[in-house]
Amino acid sequence: MFFLILSLVALDPRYHTYQRMMQEIDSLALLHTEIARVETVGVTAVNQLPIIAVKISDNPQMDEDEPALLFVGVHHAEEVLGCEVCIYTIEHLLEGYDNDSLTTRLVDNLELWFIPILNVDGHGIVTSGIDTTWRKNLRDNNDNGIFDPGYDGVDLNRNYGFNWEYGGSNDPSSEYYKGPAPFSESETQVIRDLAQRERFLMAIDFHSARTGQGEVIYYPWRWGANFCIDYPFIRSIADSLAESILNDAGTGCYTAIYGVATEGNFRNWLYATLGTYAYTVEISWGCTPPGYRVDDICQRVLDGLNVFMQRATGPGVTIYVVDSISLLPLEAEVRVQNYYDPSLPPRTSDPVFGVFRKLLTPGVYSFEIMKDGYETTFVGNVNVVDTPVSVIVKMKPQSGVTEERHGRLMQVIPDYSSGVINFVAKVNESGNCTLQVFDSSGRLVTDVTRVSFADDRYVWHVPKNFSNGVYFAVFSKSGRTTCKRFLWLRSP
Ligand SMILES: [Zn+2]
Repeated sequence: MFFLILSLVALDPRYHTYQRMMQEIDSLALLHTEIARVETVGVTAVNQLPIIAVKISDNPQMDEDEPALLFVGVHHAEEVLGCEVCIYTIEHLLEGYDNDSLTTRLVDNLELWFIPILNVDGHGIVTSGIDTTWRKNLRDNNDNGIFDPGYDGVDLNRNYGFNWEYGGSNDPSSEYYKGPAPFSESETQVIRDLAQRERFLMAIDFHSARTGQGEVIYYPWRWGANFCIDYPFIRSIADSLAESILNDAGTGCYTAIYGVATEGNFRNWLYATLGTYAYTVEISWGCTPPGYRVDDICQRVLDGLNVFMQRATGPGVTIYVVDSISLLPLEAEVRVQNYYDPSLPPRTSDPVFGVFRKLLTPGVYSFEIMKDGYETTFVGNVNVVDTPVSVIVKMKPQSGVTEERHGRLMQVIPDYSSGVINFVAKVNESGNCTLQVFDSSGRLVTDVTRVSFADDRYVWHVPKNFSNGVYFAVFSKSGRTTCKRFLWLRSP
């Protein structure tokens, strides 16, 4: 009897299992190494399975100065269509590159990140037929070492650390259990860490509601009576995305609706914390339409994604902030006049390129750029039309601030032939200081402390087993700290 029930509820084989997704992504990436890279961005909480991300861009091994976009499937285990849309879109991009002009332009100018299955543990419960309606991850809420479908698991899309306290349920047996603390789950930590590293301009998480409304796009946000400060920009992008996805019935398109701010979800956290324009796409109606319909559903969502991805290079600004003397990039706060909300964290240029990107609607805008130790700079009358306007802002050190204050910036110069990294401190920084190198997951990989910079330079002999990737060098002296991101890419 038990097996009979299982076979009745088993998922249509059109839907990918985790293992099949991994195989297909790996072989696709191998066929297209010039534009695709697979990265393990974390492991799941219970089964310790790798969560993978695919980066699609020209020069995928490098962090280039290009807008980054993130697409995530399967926060909710049973909403398996999100994985299918990700795989379908990845295939389309990889196979269309050099064949189709729009795809080539998107891949050349953007960094496109996909996580087809975030909730790998929960997805396994669904695809194995144990419970095709399972939603949460597999956190062992009562710590008894076995899976209790009536009590275990966290709703990952209520576990993010913005307004976590207002949303979801505190009851572990609820389908909406938000977890014991914000970001308590390794799966949501994956998104948090990747987003803080890549600073996505826009993002989408794909859902397909088992109950509730389908064919809808939610955007941030309405909080009480107020829309978020970027409402006109965010709303216009939601509308253009919704209008370019034909509904299943063929009678119209998807609908864009505001979401509430008082819920610790992906969309709200990304927007609140990093200013990412983040959207939830509820694909189709119900979780698992019959397999023969999946390609058609994915193609119609892809029509919308093509419009969405193109929008990243549409109306907006790209502001480069540099020190007026050294011309080194600066991480500075950028405020768009009339679109500034003091209750949200500051929006800043990124420390690697000094770049601040923001999508706007056509019009005339003014900006205020500020940083400790520098004179606040105003940039007025920027006329935004149909592509991002580039502005270079050279910030003047405040009078009375000596060169020494700006001397703490550090250069990281890898020398692959000698197998060393030169850490070069700027003016007046020789002498004892602390240098630490962390990998992209925040793990300390050197214990080089209290080094002496002879001639303002410290030469680090890189261990043989040091793997290629992105690292962070943290340099501190007299209580002041500088963090530099760098890439180590030694050929084997
Ligand atoms: Zn969902």
